Amino acid sequence: MAIEDRWREVRSRIARACARAGRDPDTVKVVAVTKYIDPAAAGAWAAAGLRDFGENRWTAARSKIEALGPGVTWHFIGHLQTNKVKYIVRFFHWLHSLDRPALAEELARRLGDGEEARSAPLYTLIQVNVAEEPSKGGISVAEAGDFLDYVHALRRSPLWKVVGWMTMAPRAESAEEVRWVFRTLRELRDRWRDHPVWAADRPLELSMGMSDDYEVAVEEGATIVRLGRVLLDGGEARVRDGPQTEREERV
Ligand SMILES: *Cc1c(COP(=O)(O)O)cnc(C)c1O
Repeated sequence: MAIEDRWREVRSRIARACARAGRDPDTVKVVAVTKYIDPAAAGAWAAAGLRDFGENRWTAARSKIEALGPGVTWHFIGHLQTNKVKYIVRFFHWLHSLDRPALAEELARRLGDGEEARSAPLYTLIQVNVAEEPSKGGISVAEAGDFLDYVHALRRSPLWKVVGWMTMAPRAESAEEVRWVFRTLRELRDRWRDHPVWAADRPLELSMGMSDDYEVAVEEGATIVRLGRVLLDGGEARVRDGPQTEREERV
């Protein structure tokens, strides 16, 4: 199956999940995760009309960002070391993984002081480790309020827009088993909806759902799903260097 067909299939599954939940499919954005593929294959995805791309490592992202050029939107979705923040601030449009105070401090530093390496906003999501898995990053549900206060106190630059939440569900036999994770993140969004940290000019985002569970995530309110494997056809040139998942990266 060509990327065009896989893309159409994903969009129609999202539309059906939206219909079940009484939602408008235009409120769900797909981030195509290119971490498994090389720059030429990523270029084919862009040629097929995909516009939002996700990467979880700067070193693997760089060649693809250069190859695709302007006109596409890059989302950093992985664990971000503080010494890589300068690249993310420079080359990415979204950061899904604000997961700890030290990272918030470094973002404040890099986006402050009139030294911005960018002129467009950096849309940032707060990562929550809902299932409290030791292998994953993110604040706990209980820490959410304090963390929002902390980020709000640090945030000075108008280019730093904090716009919602992100989570990764645990691996499971069936997506139903992790529905509670997505529901918990949605409830967290609702609970802290009026916090002053949020950018006032746009709706709050919920980045949740991957290849195995995105339809359930959409039923529970996902506004962004991050899809890798479901877009692959098995014949594409794969990237072989380095870890492909957050779990591997941390061991
Ligand atoms: C790899 C990855 C994805 C995509 O996972 P698939 O199961 O291939 O769809 C989504 N989010 C994050 C943070 C990832 O690291």
